[in-house]
Amino acid sequence: MYILRLDDASEYRQIENWDRMERLLDAYGIRPIVGVIPDNRDPRILARYPQPDPDFWQRVARWQKKGWAIALHGHQHIYLTEEGGINPVNARSEFAGLPYEEQCRKIKAGYAVLRQHGLEPELFFAPSHTFDENTLRALRDCTPIRVISDTVANDVYYRDGFYFIPQQSGRARRLPFAVSTFCYHPNAMKEVDFERLDAFLKKHKDDFTVFGPALLKQRKPGVYDRMLRKLYFARSGARR
Ligand SMILES: [Zn+2]
Repeated sequence: MYILRLDDASEYRQIENWDRMERLLDAYGIRPIVGVIPDNRDPRILARYPQPDPDFWQRVARWQKKGWAIALHGHQHIYLTEEGGINPVNARSEFAGLPYEEQCRKIKAGYAVLRQHGLEPELFFAPSHTFDENTLRALRDCTPIRVISDTVANDVYYRDGFYFIPQQSGRARRLPFAVSTFCYHPNAMKEVDFERLDAFLKKHKDDFTVFGPALLKQRKPGVYDRMLRKLYFARSGARR
């Protein structure tokens, strides 16, 4: 089963690409998880798209109405540490390594922004995929969010009061896992990326599922999940 995830939705974005992605997904009846940055201060993003979209929050509300799952994607999308936390895909983080109180403040503030705009975020994923035990504690204490989109595994698993929906690939491709999430950054997509995604969806659209309670199983991570995780981080170790 495949899940599509879109990262870095905010007022500051490549609007044409996001619109194109929406038309593409609509054409195949696919409803993704979309990560919304509550208070985008990322200097790299703001430099590229300096004009905020005044209609952004209405747009997100429409996505939610359409059945797209809204994810809290960090707080300000700025890197404050060089830690990888418990999913060390990158050695930088907005959360991992910060004290619990600081993480709580950020999670609370980000969650409040989305709520102010009438959104009901059901998941969390951090910028650069990096978070730690205190991030989970902060989510648990300050929000009703109990689902994380990230980490490497074969299937959805349950740990420390959270469901983890694994996220294994940055592009759509055939993968042998029970559940695979493909994570796209529409801001950075080129013509060829859209064409490839279109071709994949044409062939495999029926293998995609939508985020919802049916996906959430209280399954403990098993030997196979641990092996995949080990292999993944052995291979990507050079990036750290
Ligand atoms: Zn991001």
